[in-house]
Amino acid sequence: MSSKVRTDHVLTRGTVIIDVEACKGCDLCIDACKPGVLTMTELLRNDRGYRFPELEAGCTACRACAQICPDFVFQVWKFDEPVEMMRGPVPSSRSGERATA
Ligand code: SF4
Ligand code: SF4
Repeated sequence: MSSKVRTDHVLTRGTVIIDVEACKGCDLCIDACKPGVLTMTELLRNDRGYRFPELEAGCTACRACAQICPDFVFQVWKFDEPVEMMRGPVPSSRSGERATA
């Protein structure tokens, strides 16, 4: 693998699956994520009316989000090898697709 990552890409060591409908919108995971790859939705809400986190490329699979979340929203998966991912949202990270704007 090349040691240089293209500027529009970021080295990504894992991913998370986010159970959108289990989230209560408390924001704890946002500060816990040191790489800053979790952001809360602005308009989208789950069925209970809460904003929820969305994942961007660059997850390190550190598990901090899963450890701090009181509602077991995250499943964390570590890749066998780091991969370069295009910067931006990782739409496949969301489960519970009933969220509405
Ligand atoms: S596993 Fe770590 S890097 Fe990935 S989303 Fe959770 S807190 Fe952020
Ligand atoms: S810590 Fe859990 S409940 Fe709180 S906003 Fe993050 S995912 Fe939702």
